[in-house]
This record gives sequence, C-alpha cells and structure tokens, in this order.
Amino acid sequence: NKILIIGKGGREHALAWKFASDDPKTEIFVAEGNAGCELVPNVSNIALTEIEDLVGFAMQNKIDLTVVGSEELLVKGIVDKFEANNLKIFGPNKQAAMLEGSKAYAKDFMTKYGVKTAKYQNFTDYAAALKYLKQVTFPVVIKASGLAAGKGVIIAHNNDEAETALADMLLGMVFGDSGSEVVIEEFLEGVEASILSFTDSRVIIPLISAKDHKKIGDGETGLNTGGMGVIAPNPYVTDQINQEFVRDILEPTLHGLKMEKMDFAGVIFFGVMITKNGVYLLEYNMRMGDPETQAVLPLMKNQLFPVINRAIDRKLDSVTLEWDSGATCCVVIASGGYPEKHHNGYAITGLEKFDLADSYLFAAGVSKKHDDFVTAGGRVLNVVAKGSTLDEARNKAYKAINSVSFKDMYYRSDIGKIS
Ligand code: ATP
Repeated sequence: NKILIIGKGGREHALAWKFASDDPKTEIFVAEGNAGCELVPNVSNIALTEIEDLVGFAMQNKIDLTVVGSEELLVKGIVDKFEANNLKIFGPNKQAAMLEGSKAYAKDFMTKYGVKTAKYQNFTDYAAALKYLKQVTFPVVIKASGLAAGKGVIIAHNNDEAETALADMLLGMVFGDSGSEVVIEEFLEGVEASILSFTDSRVIIPLISAKDHKKIGDGETGLNTGGMGVIAPNPYVTDQINQEFVRDILEPTLHGLKMEKMDFAGVIFFGVMITKNGVYLLEYNMRMGDPETQAVLPLMKNQLFPVINRAIDRKLDSVTLEWDSGATCCVVIASGGYPEKHHNGYAITGLEKFDLADSYLFAAGVSKKHDDFVTAGGRVLNVVAKGSTLDEARNKAYKAINSVSFKDMYYRSDIGKIS
C-alpha cells in the first residue's frame, strides 16, 4: 500500500512508524514531514504544502490512503478536494472541520444537540460583549473563535482583564480574523482529559484516553505550550467517567452529526473537563492530537490501515479496537527558551542509534544540515516508553532521554506524576 501523511510534527512521525510497523511493505510519504520521519523504513518526505499539489501528487503516485494531521488544511477543505478526485482520505470535510475551525459554531452545535458544555455566549460586537461581562461571575474564559494554535484562550480573573482580552481580540485584532468573533464562557474547575475517537459518522469509537501536560513548567506552571508530554491511559478516566462521557458527550455528538448530515470518516478529539458536577466538553479537535498520538498509537494492537479503510467504507461498526493493558508516557524535549524565543540549528546526537526496548523516538522540530540532524523548532523530540504500569513507563521514558542530546535541551521532569 501507498500512504500519504500530511503534516510535519511528532504526530506524523508516529503515524508513519505505526503504518510501517504494522506492515513493513507499506510505502509512506510525509508532506512535508521532518528529517526524523525518514528514519522509518520506506518513508520519504515530500516538500508539498498546497492542496492542489497534494491532490496532484496523490493521483500521480496512486496513493491508496491519505491521512491529514494538521488542522489548517482541513478547515480549507482538503478532504472535499481529495474526494472530488476519487482519492481516499481520512479527515473531516469542510463542514465538519468547522467544529474545530469555529469555536462559536462548535458551542452552538453542542447546545443544539444537548452536549454537556460550559455556559457561554458568542460576540462579534465589543459593546455587547462588555455589557455581558456585567452578568458573569469571574473567572471567565474568553476565546478567539477561529484557529489560534492554542494561544487564543484567555482566563480573565476580573473585569479589567476581560476588557483587555476583548479589546485585543475584537478591536485590536491580535489574532486577525480568528478573533473577530469571541466566545465568553463559564470557567470550569477540574482535570482535563483528551479522548480521541474514530468516526464514520454512523458510529464513534473512542481510542484509549490520554492526559496532556500543556504548561511549560513542572507542576503545570508558566506559559501554555503545544504540549510538553502526555500519558495514556488517563488515570482520571475511570469506568464511571467514561460512561458519563459516552452518555453526555459522545452520544449527543453522534446524533448531531447525523442531524446535520455531516458525512465523513475521520477523527474526533474530545477535549473534556472532569468536574465534580460531571464531564464537560471544552472543545472538539477534528484530527489526531499532538502529542496524544505519540502516546496512544504504541498501545494500539489493531493495524491502523484496515481500521481507517473500514471507516472510509462507512463500516466502522464492524471494528473492535484493542489495546495493550499497560501504559505509555511521552516526554516532549523542547529547545531552551520555548515557547518564547529559542535557537535553531543545534546538532542532535543519538537519533539514528536510538534503540531501546519498548521505547520510541518521534521527531518534531528536526531538520538535516549536511548529514547531521539539527534542531529546527521549539518542540524538538518526543521520547515515548511503554510499561506494564504508568510508573514503569515513566521511568523508562526518563531513562531513554539520556540517549539523545542537544544544546539547551529542556523537558519537564513531572510528566505522568499523578498527585
Ligand atoms: P488546544 O491547543 O487544546 O486546541 P484551543 O485553543 O483550541 O486549545 P481550548 O481547548 O478550548 O482551546 O482551550 C485551551 C485550554 O484552556 C483548555 O485546555 C483548558 O485548559 C482551558 N480552558 C478552556 N475552556 C475552559 C473553561 N471553560 N474552563 C476552564 N478552563 C478552560
């Protein structure tokens, strides 16, 4: 089989690894990938980023399946373009991608179909938004509606902070068009979980749950990042919580997809908050998470290609996903200074030779200079280990980090430490 993966992070490296280890004869292209992806046998990176070029490549090379990692192209309608050319692609069409591309649309969808979520209102008008602030209890959450790479969410503790955030988004346009509409919503207290799922719009099948670690510092302190580490399964997602999630979030979402006639095969990533009053949906992402994918795929027993094909054939109900009984821990290694300023171009050692039992290395901000791997981004590497318990996975992951190195490497020391 020939597979095209679109994106360039650790998530895409993990997908390439999974397809290749399921079936070593698979030929894999990653657009545009990163230098680490090519360490996987039969993987080639291709330097294409535009939808038309990717369609052309898939047609010329008779690609059997395309999997889209990153959100921008989904919102731009890459799935519709591939399908119009009879190419098989796993991802939401433009309509369904709105569930991620517009938080205002997603919140309205949740409310319409009774998906449990925080109370909210959407605004495009600054004066109207200010007026609404008079009736809220602080803290309150203010979100730019469009894509803002995780930076468009402000927790305002008082009226002044809220006014500043609203002025920045609605008047100052600091997030450009993404902030021309905002969602003001009730602040929820609890622990977060990432529940990824596969859907064919007829059923939604959850993958194993995961727990992200978003802040740069130990103990969840400091600035927000794209994700500094993740564990799977999420210890807070008990059977009871899972039942509530299915009843209050998954089932009403599926009903909504059917009512809105959103016919697609892809991923729904539910970002949820587990509170003392039940499980609330914070957001939908319509693609695999990064770094969640890196922790989830090593636990998956099924081969991925046939599962995705069943979804594309709208026969996902015939699939049972099976998982290793253990746990994984993924530690992200960033370049010092991230998420603010960091340097690129530092030599990375240990990448090619990385070979430890039950441990995996997925590259993100990595490129090649002459024959050497060098840093080329804020989040550089993902080190993942699998163990029969979370503690075992953690210990192995932190040991495995010793086999790679680059100048100014930074990682959190508490990924998977459950208080
Ligand atoms: P992501 O990078 O996860 O895609 P995003 O920009 O799409 O983020 P959200 O996931 O909606 O936005 O919010 C980002 C983070 O802000 C959440 O993971 C959560 O920590 C916090 N957050 C969002 N909404 C709420 C809320 N109602 N109450 C408390 N915290 C919240």
